[in-house]
Amino acid sequence: MANVPDTIQTWQMVQPWTRDKETGEKTPGVLELTSIPAPELAEGEVLVEIAGCGVCHTDLGYFYHGVPTVNKPPLTLGHEISGRVVAGDAGWLGKEVIVPAVMPCNNCPICAAGRGNRCLKQKMPGNSLGVYGGFSSHIPVPAADLCVVPPPAPLPAGGIEGGRSIPLEWLAVVADAVTTPYQAVTRADVQAGDRVVVVGAAGGVGAYVVQVAKAFGAGTVVGVDVHQEKLERSLEYGADFIINATGKSAKDVRNEFRALCKENGLPHNYGWKIFEVTGARGGQEISLALLSFVGKLIWVGFSSNVNEYSLSRLMAFDAEIIGTWGCLPKYYPDALQMVLDGRIQIEPFVETRPMSTIRETFERAHAGKLTRRVVLTPDF
Ligand SMILES: [Zn+2]
Ligand SMILES: [Zn+2]
Repeated sequence: MANVPDTIQTWQMVQPWTRDKETGEKTPGVLELTSIPAPELAEGEVLVEIAGCGVCHTDLGYFYHGVPTVNKPPLTLGHEISGRVVAGDAGWLGKEVIVPAVMPCNNCPICAAGRGNRCLKQKMPGNSLGVYGGFSSHIPVPAADLCVVPPPAPLPAGGIEGGRSIPLEWLAVVADAVTTPYQAVTRADVQAGDRVVVVGAAGGVGAYVVQVAKAFGAGTVVGVDVHQEKLERSLEYGADFIINATGKSAKDVRNEFRALCKENGLPHNYGWKIFEVTGARGGQEISLALLSFVGKLIWVGFSSNVNEYSLSRLMAFDAEIIGTWGCLPKYYPDALQMVLDGRIQIEPFVETRPMSTIRETFERAHAGKLTRRVVLTPDF
């Protein structure tokens, strides 16, 4: 069979950064190019030739910040993958696919209850799928939950246009950056006309929370962040109003939010759905300060911070705080469709780089120097 390799080229995380607890001395992490044997495919598995793999904040957590992976290093990071099936069940061969960042077992009480995105036996490339991850030439994955990318339509007779204009590698961001917001917005039950605040609206995930909320029909979306330029960009992609929180306390931001509501004839103290997407203390404090009567706070960002909040306010507000993790594979086709038909724009938020630049790309991402989500494309 064409294109089926004996070996997989891959950038393994040999070891993450570590810090000596006593001396505080840091030992740099190691990413190394190596090749591993392509495995025998198990029943129900296919081999995907990777078109692109996005660099996610979660990868940086594993490499730089001591967040442990389920499978111990050496392993390959990367869970935001698109590609083409090159081996396995004949029905899948040649299909272009998006690999869900978390793949449920589909065979446990949590899955049966429709909560498979948090299945305890789920597999995540670059974390809990053995040594396999997306910063590779190929990856073996269970086929059941792959999201098929519709083939580009044939050229119309005499026409120059036709088909999908979005390259397959860009669609890697659907595997996590787009679908995690899709799940979060679904968990929040965003309905037509809803009022939404996105704290972290300028970030790699937050920008999509804004767009997905709008695509679900949200009437008003307020973006809060600390990057003025990116906040202004969000006005072109779903945000109706922006608040720059730079140098402001949570209370300052709440007051500014109230003033903004007043100016625009919006109620300030009930019914808002607030998304915390920063995973940073400042953003978390703002999100908690904005939660009010019959509101919902959806916790999308991650950090190891311990937050202080009077939970009795939830009682008084009749409000909810909801956690959200990953995305159910069944939502992927709809999320992908939103991207393909332009309700969600990815082009302004993504850039591709050769996979051989992985070390410097990680460094730049870690230093906060990237303005777009980087998708690494195999060149090794
Ligand atoms: Zn991720
Ligand atoms: Zn399960």
